[in-house]
Amino acid sequence: MYGWIGKILHVDLSQCEVKQFPTQPYADRYLGGRGIASRIYWEQVKPEIKAFDPENRLIFMTGPLVATGVQGASRLSVVGKSPMTLPEGYCYGNLGGFIGPELKKAGFDGVVVEGCAPTPMYLWIHNNKAELLDASSLWGQGVYQVRDYLHQVHGEKAKFITTGVAGERKVRTAVVVASHDSTVSAGFGAVMGSKNLKALAVKGTGRPSVANPSRLKELNRYTKRISKRFRLSMPPSLIGHEMIVECIGKGDCYQCGLECIRGRYRTTNGREGYRKCQSMEVYMPWKFSRKDESVDTFFDAPTLCNEYSLCTFEVRNMIEWLYACYQSGCLTEEETGLPLSKIGTREFLERLLYVIAYRQGFGNILAEGLVRAREHVSDQARAMLTHSVVPIGLGDWQPPRVFVAHGLLNAMEPRMHMPLLHEMSHLRARWQAHLLHPDLSSVTSKVFRAVAKLFWGSEKAANLSSYEGKALAAKKIQDRTYVMDSLGLCSFAWPIMDSFNTPDHLGDPTLEAKIFSAVTGIAGEEFDRYAERIFNLQRAILVREGRRVPDADAIPEYNFTEPFETDPIGRKLLIPDSGEEAVSTVGNILDRERFMSVLKEYYHLRGWNPETGVPYTETLAALGLDDLVSTFSPEETECENEDLH
Ligand code: SF4
Repeated sequence: MYGWIGKILHVDLSQCEVKQFPTQPYADRYLGGRGIASRIYWEQVKPEIKAFDPENRLIFMTGPLVATGVQGASRLSVVGKSPMTLPEGYCYGNLGGFIGPELKKAGFDGVVVEGCAPTPMYLWIHNNKAELLDASSLWGQGVYQVRDYLHQVHGEKAKFITTGVAGERKVRTAVVVASHDSTVSAGFGAVMGSKNLKALAVKGTGRPSVANPSRLKELNRYTKRISKRFRLSMPPSLIGHEMIVECIGKGDCYQCGLECIRGRYRTTNGREGYRKCQSMEVYMPWKFSRKDESVDTFFDAPTLCNEYSLCTFEVRNMIEWLYACYQSGCLTEEETGLPLSKIGTREFLERLLYVIAYRQGFGNILAEGLVRAREHVSDQARAMLTHSVVPIGLGDWQPPRVFVAHGLLNAMEPRMHMPLLHEMSHLRARWQAHLLHPDLSSVTSKVFRAVAKLFWGSEKAANLSSYEGKALAAKKIQDRTYVMDSLGLCSFAWPIMDSFNTPDHLGDPTLEAKIFSAVTGIAGEEFDRYAERIFNLQRAILVREGRRVPDADAIPEYNFTEPFETDPIGRKLLIPDSGEEAVSTVGNILDRERFMSVLKEYYHLRGWNPETGVPYTETLAALGLDDLVSTFSPEETECENEDLH
């Protein structure tokens, strides 16, 4: 096989047994990454299995482009039953950095982990071999101590995946942390902990074969050239705080030369480290009127969270909620045992993280995650939870009241899936940057509309807050993102929709398919079919686990009742109108009837029953997914749509 290595590890921790199975039967239909991992989940994780049962699987899967030299192909998908979602259910995420490419260099496309080790263990994978080793001395250690130990034992070049004390103690929001501070949420750190699996250490010297290396080289050069599109290297909420932190270099992911906001930063106190996006913003003392707090507190906060494996999204929401509750008097220092009067200081952060990770006192309630913690506090404290608090991830970012298509994207997923939301939100950000300083980006309103036509199916989709063209736009974004997640591509780099370096400033929607062909030797025309297959598979998994469609294809009620004011970092988002003007979105609210009619249009485009949201038998059969049909009730899968016959 070109692109893929051709084998996947299966590790049974209960039996201390390591086996392999071939990638090809899965790759032919589900590509890799999220696609293959979801299919394995479908086959191996029955709906009644709980997140912390030994029978749950933790599935790590790369894609065919990873480690081939393709730009931004660094991603390692992780799939399993999540303890963080409410109720527990199928979920996914991915890790950037170096761990995915290293796994392929070590001789495997992925790793499936089941069971529970009798004592703490770690998996050592190196040049086509894998073995389980004793991790008793690592149990109770933080992420960076584990890293140092693995480097000492297996060499500095070994890459790792691990979880800290929060994962061991099954904090429902605990993350998995990998080399170069990459993390994946969904509570998969807690799943590692429940399996007594402390780490994976990986080192290899191999590489996947590429079908057409000279063509790939040419496409890589083209990718780098047209990917120049944004002169910005600072997470949005830090703009205006450049005096305390500066970006001094590029982010560090395997063989990636593309622009993004993962960077190496330095504080005025001289501290340096890699930071990216929201994780950098987990604790900003100035938000709590702590102007005298050292900049180190802000800069060290993500590292302190990582050390325990606590989710920076969740910690940020918790602190903002605790602050609001303390200010209004509905939570006190006495009842929480936390120094709430010191929110914004390092002392408070360190105490909070400690009590959550070790599940002490009020920390034990927070360790269940905010969506579950809300059941253990007063009505008044519950009412202080913001719209950012959802079962997983950040809630009200890129809100449907501004981006109508995001309402559809959010409604179909078991979690907030940021890569799906990046496509429209990043383009909007580049458009707004152009308004402020034309040098920052080439996305004028005219370019924005042309991108909408090329990538989302119609110019109408460019009016982000209208209902026209949004069903098709949502489907196209989903299809592209599902393929990207399965190929191993990073959503900070892909898709390339606009460019400083093309005559019309448009990107290239065919580029991923061309690269796929150069790497694998397989024609890329069938991309949409891969996406459809993986998307319908996910629909079947969710329905099998109890999702009641169409009612569960919903977004929070406030979208229909509360006018939009600002996003969670206080931005009053502007969007382009049909001409050259910028329109404010303050006051936007969703119209229920129109949104429901867009949802039906979307079902129709998917080949699903527009009334029930259930895939027609013919749709599944055309994708070779006959085995999913029985998941849906027979009367709902019967096709009344002549177009599909
Ligand atoms: S675009 Fe940024 S985050 Fe994505 S692979 Fe490249 S360096 Fe990593």
